Amino acid sequence: MKLWCATTNPGKVREFRLLGAEVEILPGMEQIDAPVEDGDTFEENAALKAIYYSRHAPGLLFADDSGLEVDALGGEPGVYSARYAGEGATDALNNTLLLRRLESINDRRARFVCVIALADAGKLIRTFRGTVEGEILRAPRGSGGFGYDPLFFYPPFGQTLAEIPADEKFTVSHRGNALRAMLDWIG
Ligand code: IMP
Repeated sequence: MKLWCATTNPGKVREFRLLGAEVEILPGMEQIDAPVEDGDTFEENAALKAIYYSRHAPGLLFADDSGLEVDALGGEPGVYSARYAGEGATDALNNTLLLRRLESINDRRARFVCVIALADAGKLIRTFRGTVEGEILRAPRGSGGFGYDPLFFYPPFGQTLAEIPADEKFTVSHRGNALRAMLDWIG
């Protein structure tokens, strides 16, 4: 079954296709005004995107929202992960700010969260949550991945998510887990 995906990030689509799902970017995404992502939770943001873009899709559509939650920072940066250091911030600036906030903190526990919302013609069907647990290092390691990957140490692999190939990351990642949950549910 073909699923439409509301993203302009080709990296995400490549990841989704690793599971063998027939995923296509919603055509004309760039011409559609983006909705304001003003939800307080990943669920709210994923749902508002899926509901909005599914009105423009010829079939089932999903949208995702994701980010990093650091325990010692009360769950920050959370839904603000992409713009932690300010609107339009680069990954490097976000990572620098995160390291600064954690400078004197020994509890480094954190998780990536991804919520995928599935919708049909403007109606939310369901949301699916995936997580991956890890620890924030004191300096970046690795050049793969994106975002906070170079700081996110994954103990079972003994590496950061920027040190492992994309297909291996997807076997354990928050996005992989959320997508597997959705595909299992669709059947
Ligand atoms: P969005 O879901 O595209 O809005 O992504 C939110 C932000 O969370 C990204 O810009 C990254 O900073 C962070 N993020 C989400 N998923 C990952 C990941 O797999 N690795 C590293 N950072 C991530």
